[in-house]
Amino acid sequence: MKHYKYIIIGAGLSGLTTAFQLKRLGENDVLILESRERIGGRILTQKGIDLGATWFQGHHTHVKDVLQLLKIPAFNQYVDGNSILVYNAMAPAHYFKSDSNAPASQRIVGGSTSIIKALSSSIKDCIKTNTTVHKVIEKDNFLEVHTANENFTANKVVVTIPPRIVSQIDFKPQLPERLQTAMNATHTWMSHAIKAGITFKKPFWRERDLSGMLIGQIGPMTELYDHCDPSTGIYSLMGFVNEGLRDLQPADRKAIILKHIATYLGPEVYDYLEYVEKDWSIDLHTSSRTLKNDGLNPGYGNPIYQEEYFDGKLIFSGTETSPLNGGYMDGAIYSGIHAANKVAVS
Ligand SMILES: Cc1cc2nc3c(=O)[nH]c(=O)nc-3n(C[C@H](O)[C@H](O)[C@H](O)COP(=O)(O)OP(=O)(O)OC[C@H]3O[C@@H](n4cnc5c(N)ncnc54)[C@H](O)[C@@H]3O)c2cc1C
Repeated sequence: MKHYKYIIIGAGLSGLTTAFQLKRLGENDVLILESRERIGGRILTQKGIDLGATWFQGHHTHVKDVLQLLKIPAFNQYVDGNSILVYNAMAPAHYFKSDSNAPASQRIVGGSTSIIKALSSSIKDCIKTNTTVHKVIEKDNFLEVHTANENFTANKVVVTIPPRIVSQIDFKPQLPERLQTAMNATHTWMSHAIKAGITFKKPFWRERDLSGMLIGQIGPMTELYDHCDPSTGIYSLMGFVNEGLRDLQPADRKAIILKHIATYLGPEVYDYLEYVEKDWSIDLHTSSRTLKNDGLNPGYGNPIYQEEYFDGKLIFSGTETSPLNGGYMDGAIYSGIHAANKVAVS
């Protein structure tokens, strides 16, 4: 069994940040095990569309710091022109303008995946994808980490996967019951979400003085936004699909969504180039089988996640464990840095 000083379980934003920070601290004996065929976890940009995380806000200082460090620019979410609110099936649409004095949500140039690409570029060699951890066994002064094809040992293991799916890993000895209970009760942020994005030859809605923002709980897209990225030249709309469409066939869902957007933004919608969507609730690398849309008050950053387990050889990280901005990219980065600093000194 190959031995490492540190094994990180999960190559999402948190796990990659931990490895990046360990490297900055001069710690290079690191292995990251990732169950998916790709890295990034809940950050996924396809055809220029952010199907996972998209925005950060002014108080997300850890995102801002990492972007600055990695020299990745950001830009304001486009909100110029009229936005549309559809709140009642019988009433006409209502138009409104965003407050130009309100703090803007920020987007990452090249999509949120830019942060994943930049973070991983110097640590690529230590990442193994398609490698699901299914067992962690405590030995005297190290841990054994088991995957389907290969087993490894490590002095320290950092688990960064969403707490609710940690139960997919068999820990020997078992994790304390109070920790298991807390994990099962921790909703995985956005794991119920369905996102869709559509690309176009040009942002036709802007020519009509529309912002692209289309909001309303009664429609098939509860939220839709302009998702153009000046750096890539991709013109697109992206938003959240009404969960009531979850069980439809993808082609039927797409047809309903296109019709809805065409009604409010214009028939040019049908001249789209690409349509992409993702239902995170059926992706078991993120979601548990038991959830749809629960835990709207998730209470992230439970102090139980800051404790060390197996005599300090095992710690938990990831956005849901973060006492600061849990659920968001900022929480993932905060917890990732914190985890690296913690294992490196102990
Ligand atoms: C639809 C959606 C919209 C969002 N919008 C925003 C937004 O606008 N702004 C914002 O700040 N945040 C947003 N978020 C949240 C943001 O994406 C997360 O906070 C962040 O990406 C979480 O990173 P993480 O590393 O903690 O977890 P994850 O990204 O979930 O990473 C965990 C990793 O562990 C892997 N894994 C799971 N099980 C195993 C196993 N047994 N063995 C090995 N690997 C395993 C997974 O494949 C994954 O790569 C959104 C999320 C979604 C899904």
